[in-house]
Amino acid sequence: MPGTSSLRVYYDADADLGRLRGRTVAIIGYGSQGHAHALNLRESGVTVIVGLRPGGGSWARATAEKLDVRPVADAARAANLIMMLVPDQDGRAVYEQDVAAAVVPGKTLMFAHGFNVHFKQIVPPTGVDVSMVAPKSPGHLVRSEFQAGRGVPALVAVERDASDHALADALAYAAGIGCTRAGVLPTTFREETESDLFGEQVVLCGGVTALIKAGFETLVAAGYAPELAYFECLHELKLIVDLMYRGGMKFMRYSISDTAEYGDYTRGPTLITSAVRARMQQILADIQSGAFAREWIEESRQGGPNFQRMRREQNDHLIREDLGRPRRPPAPRWAGAPVRGPASGPRGDITPGVRGAPARGTPGPAARADRRDGGPQRADR
Ligand code: NDP
Ligand code: MG
Repeated sequence: MPGTSSLRVYYDADADLGRLRGRTVAIIGYGSQGHAHALNLRESGVTVIVGLRPGGGSWARATAEKLDVRPVADAARAANLIMMLVPDQDGRAVYEQDVAAAVVPGKTLMFAHGFNVHFKQIVPPTGVDVSMVAPKSPGHLVRSEFQAGRGVPALVAVERDASDHALADALAYAAGIGCTRAGVLPTTFREETESDLFGEQVVLCGGVTALIKAGFETLVAAGYAPELAYFECLHELKLIVDLMYRGGMKFMRYSISDTAEYGDYTRGPTLITSAVRARMQQILADIQSGAFAREWIEESRQGGPNFQRMRREQNDHLIREDLGRPRRPPAPRWAGAPVRGPASGPRGDITPGVRGAPARGTPGPAARADRRDGGPQRADR
């Protein structure tokens, strides 16, 4: 049956952190992911150098953590493993200018997202291991979960195995940042890139924000108070998603009223019509063909004029945070950082990189199986 699989999941016992001892890891970039990888690896006993542009905002932050911070080219040259953690749209330029010369046979080039390799923006030379450890979580959770003794799940992939131990090295890296505590799933650069783009465009970022806005605007246009519309269409979404996260749709539906459940079954499918599904297929086709990547690369090359304009327009949209502020409980610190504002620390928002699966307490496959068998417990009501 499509959609079923029995993927092998790697845990601590499958990884040998010792593989990284005596080697040096260069973390290129010190943003959402970069700061978490650098600090977690150091605390795992790995020798870390952070590669940055002198004068950039991150330089002082990484230095303040007493990390060994060097210009990108110096860091890449000194390292055995080079992890690229700059924004994807800058990856190619950073690689060509400062990293490529250091990527010689015997070294390992790593990524946290397959975009630049899959879409051939970065073409590493032969003789080099090319692998990916992609945490399924914003960087701030990669860090805070590690500090709490846990970890976030991740994907692992090997694009090129020149050494014959690229997977073992990638798993060692995943262990160093805490991901094998939660579970690491094998994938390919292609599968990770395409499914990640699809998820963020259709469901997690594009789909959900468009749905919220359309619902909000429909209520407001019909004369309902914007504050009320905000709570209905945005605030309560978190509560519903929390229930689904905890026990799947069945548990969520168990918890809501019968009236809500009846409305769910009868109205939801009339909203996500076959036309919407056809649109989803087209979005996927544009990802698979590389059309979306070409568009985004070209946009970035021009300095992102449309991207900046849309960001401004969207920030001015009627759904503003302050509508919900009076009665909202304080947001967790990582969620409350200014959205794309001038950063005072490593980037705090959960924008394009939000890698789908939430992290906290993510159940392993065993927990998922339990849930399927047992279903939600009435006592939870
Ligand atoms: P960020 O936008 O947070 O990275 C910013 C960092 O990159 C800063 O340290 C910045 O330094 C540095 N940087 C930017 N341009 C350059 C440059 N030209 N030269 C040197 N350094 C530069 O990136 P993310 O952490 O979001 O993403 C990194 C990778 O991780 C991407 O491949 C992304 O797809 C992937 N990923 C991201 C996730 C997330 O949650 N954000 C989740 C999973 C994967 P400066 O201060 O000098 O500007
Ligand atoms: Mg994603």
